[in-house]
Amino acid sequence: MTDVLLRMVLRREHDIFVVRQRGREVAAAVGLEHQDQIRLATALSDLGRLLLAVPGDADVTFVAQPGTPPRLVVEIVAGSGAAAALAGDPAAAAAKRLVDELEVDGGESRTRVRLSRRLPIGAAPLTGERIADLRERLAANEPGTPLDELTVQNRELLAALDAVRAQRDELAETNQGVMALYNELSQELEETNRGVVALYNELDDKSAQLKAASEAKSRFLANVSHELRAPVTAVIGLTRLLSDAGSDPLTEEQTRHVDLIRGSATDLLTLVNDLLDLAKAESGRLEPVWTEVDLRALFGQLRGTSRAVITRPEVQLVVEDPPAGAAVTSDEALLTQVLRNLLTNAIKFTERGTVSMSLRAATGLDGWELEVADTGTGIPPELHERIFEEFYQVPGSSVGRTGTGLGLPYARRLVTLLGGTLGLASEPGTGSVFTVVLPRRPVPAAPAPRDAG
Ligand code: ADP
Repeated sequence: MTDVLLRMVLRREHDIFVVRQRGREVAAAVGLEHQDQIRLATALSDLGRLLLAVPGDADVTFVAQPGTPPRLVVEIVAGSGAAAALAGDPAAAAAKRLVDELEVDGGESRTRVRLSRRLPIGAAPLTGERIADLRERLAANEPGTPLDELTVQNRELLAALDAVRAQRDELAETNQGVMALYNELSQELEETNRGVVALYNELDDKSAQLKAASEAKSRFLANVSHELRAPVTAVIGLTRLLSDAGSDPLTEEQTRHVDLIRGSATDLLTLVNDLLDLAKAESGRLEPVWTEVDLRALFGQLRGTSRAVITRPEVQLVVEDPPAGAAVTSDEALLTQVLRNLLTNAIKFTERGTVSMSLRAATGLDGWELEVADTGTGIPPELHERIFEEFYQVPGSSVGRTGTGLGLPYARRLVTLLGGTLGLASEPGTGSVFTVVLPRRPVPAAPAPRDAG
């Protein structure tokens, strides 16, 4: 075979060193990297030790294989017992890991072992000329003594130790880098957390300020309306006194003026009373008196009082009778105020048709839906929420009607206080339906904190 680089025989213990040494030499000559040279040499000395225990010599041949990729192949022909000696031996398994391929072919008289290792990409091509040259050079080399090989092995061991130390240092450095990164990240996280906490504190401050402002507003309204009520009531009383039959007669002009004053003062008193109610509800000073309210009785009472409010024959009032025994835990006076307010509005904004009030079991909750419906002017959808704002009135709707724009915000406050909701469905021209949804047994809300002042 022309590609043979070197042949040798494994017969004595000493030959193991030689095989190892020459294996490294050949590996270096064909261009295997340093680590691969040591790997191949180690695999050969491990296999050599095992094969030496088998009767008969072993022939070792190093072959250059120029194919793609080019390889260095070591062929060993040993005694027939070799296959059994290598099978399952941990040293053989370790040797297999050190090369690309390790094949053991157990024949009847001989065992063939074949190791191969690929040459690195940059290695010089294995031309016929180069192989011949390598063969010549290797043949000229005198094999060294076991002592030489020991020296080489020691050197390799030291180099390996150095490499391990370098790797350990590198690892330590990497660890340091990772730790630094970790510290940096946790610092950043901590800073972000601090920022979030500060933001929350600021939000808390702001909401406390808002709450204080809203409470101050309610207190102011309550005080002012309270202070206004007495003088306005006095003005109304005085106008009555002036127009009284027992007083000095007034001229026609004077009577007209006194009537105007009384009308304005009455409007003012309504406004002041509404403001006072709303301020009371907002400041949390209004505490419901919870009792079992008989809804049938309540509806009956409202039927009577509302009928008196209707001034137009074109408007019909229909207050349905709730089922006997229908009841709700609530504050009767506050609930009456809400419903009367809704009925008064419905009557006020309905020129002709029907104003009705009805009751049915609520859907999705143990409670009631109380509905006040009318066939009046209706409210554009975009204003459905606005009319619950203080002083808001649908543009044009107040012409020829009295009102302060405080009734609905107050009604909604009360319903909320009673544990329910107040909603609206309405279309201009068709009419409006205001719905109060009340749980049968509301959970009383915690009373709002009150100011000592
Ligand atoms: P007001 O004293 O003006 O009645 P409310 O707060 O009770 O004040 O109502 C606010 C506004 O909502 C009213 O001015 C009116 O424009 C509108 N509104 C309330 N109820 C009805 C209704 N049943 N039909 C049509 N518009 C209504």
